[in-house]
Amino acid sequence: MANKQQDAMASLVSLCKRRGFIFQSSEIYGGLNGCWDYGPLGVELLNNLKQAWWRAMTLREDVEGVDASILMHPKVWEASGHVANFTDPMVDCKQCKSRFRIDVLIEDLSIKKKKKIVRALDETALQGQVRDEQVIEEFDKRVSTEEQMESVVTTLVSCPQCGNNGTFTDAKQFNLMFKTFVGPVEDSSAVVYLRPETAQGIFVNFLNVQNSTRQKVPFGIAQIGKAFRNEINTKNFLFRTREFEQMEMQYFVRPGKEDEWFEYWREQRMQWFIDLGMSKDQLQWHKHDKLAHYAKDAYDIEFKFPFGWGEVEGIHSRTDFDLGNHEKFSGKGLKYFDDQTKEKYVPYVIETSIGASRSLMAFLCASHCEEMAPTADGGEEKRTVMKFHPALAPQKAAILPLVNRDGMPEIAQSLTKDLQKHYRVFYDTTGAIGRRYRRQDEIGTPFCITIDSETLSDQTVTVRDRDTMNQERIALDAVKQFLFEKVGGSL
Ligand code: ATP
Repeated sequence: MANKQQDAMASLVSLCKRRGFIFQSSEIYGGLNGCWDYGPLGVELLNNLKQAWWRAMTLREDVEGVDASILMHPKVWEASGHVANFTDPMVDCKQCKSRFRIDVLIEDLSIKKKKKIVRALDETALQGQVRDEQVIEEFDKRVSTEEQMESVVTTLVSCPQCGNNGTFTDAKQFNLMFKTFVGPVEDSSAVVYLRPETAQGIFVNFLNVQNSTRQKVPFGIAQIGKAFRNEINTKNFLFRTREFEQMEMQYFVRPGKEDEWFEYWREQRMQWFIDLGMSKDQLQWHKHDKLAHYAKDAYDIEFKFPFGWGEVEGIHSRTDFDLGNHEKFSGKGLKYFDDQTKEKYVPYVIETSIGASRSLMAFLCASHCEEMAPTADGGEEKRTVMKFHPALAPQKAAILPLVNRDGMPEIAQSLTKDLQKHYRVFYDTTGAIGRRYRRQDEIGTPFCITIDSETLSDQTVTVRDRDTMNQERIALDAVKQFLFEKVGGSL
């Protein structure tokens, strides 16, 4: 990773801790790898993000919500294929005992190293001056299957931890599901899993939801909830963690209609990121070349993180694989009866699957900005500003009496109380006004409302915009309406 990008990431991680967005889990005990805690501002941001998703996905006629339990019958995970296939091939370094996922070792190789590997595999390839894209293309041609990756890793890749060459063991399959036991006896009949995805809670409830709501295909079921994966390597802050939250929606369609719904949901989901303030050049599509045997099509929405492009959401056309398998494994019919055509069929499924924590990190990165800003004395200073969309911002406004006397605090407190019925706002009297603005910029508060001596005479306040830093005067009794128009929510 280039130094500048490393610095940007380090400064974001440090801001997240300092201002109470994200803390390391169990920090006083040295932390627990792959687990993070949300602080006071982080939990507001996370709740706002989940709320924005929930509203976009369920404030419509054809999508219902559920909240299924984390622990499910173990047969669910046999039917879904997770017991047999939710594995990553991994290798251990015999020298330093570190463990790595093979695909991650491949993904992390530099262009220079890839070039060396291609030349080692084929002496005639990549002769003379070559462009980076050529190296990637030639590498991907030769190293794409699991067997090819394993062979390259065990013969040509050195351990990223200790630097030794030729010290990797043969690959072993490692199942990513966390196991635990129900009840007091820890034997195989009591094994259950912490769910590795929320989707299965939707599939097993397909007919419950359809019967109880009388929805007709096409319709969807949405859910937000925790998922757990015993990832071999956790990395990049919230990007790959062992405990995280997913926001998933399964949309059930008549077989034959899946392609048009797939396109519909791809468009909807990309637009959601843009509506929440991401720019188009921070996002891209990645089409899966290798599909699971049951999948018809799959695309990822990728975000440009400081460390490179990374998946934030998957949109998958999953045929009737999941419902069909649950029928087989449970022995219970999960067919939909179309009372107009009198047909019975297992619907096809379009899935949209986004990580709440991973996309929160994407929004943190997209919003994080360090720029020069004018000071009161005509100079310039660096300001850090989180340019969150107002709907995501943890606090919607800061209420600032210019001085702590002359009746200004009383007016400010009364405004704060009134706004708190609708929004999370912050009352702050300490420090020079410029410093107070900067503190709010750093946590992404979109508006600062200042009560000053003019307020005392004409009942107006100053509203300062976080991004433009422009100030305008509006009537004190118009502040609530102003916020409603800018931030949304209910009055
Ligand atoms: P990856 O290849 O990055 O491990 P995946 O393809 O296994 O991801 P899916 O199973 O499609 O991911 O999960 C859907 C979404 O859940 C991902 O787009 C991501 O946002 C989120 N997600 C998956 N695994 C993790 C994780 N370990 N930590 C945080 N978020 C995750």
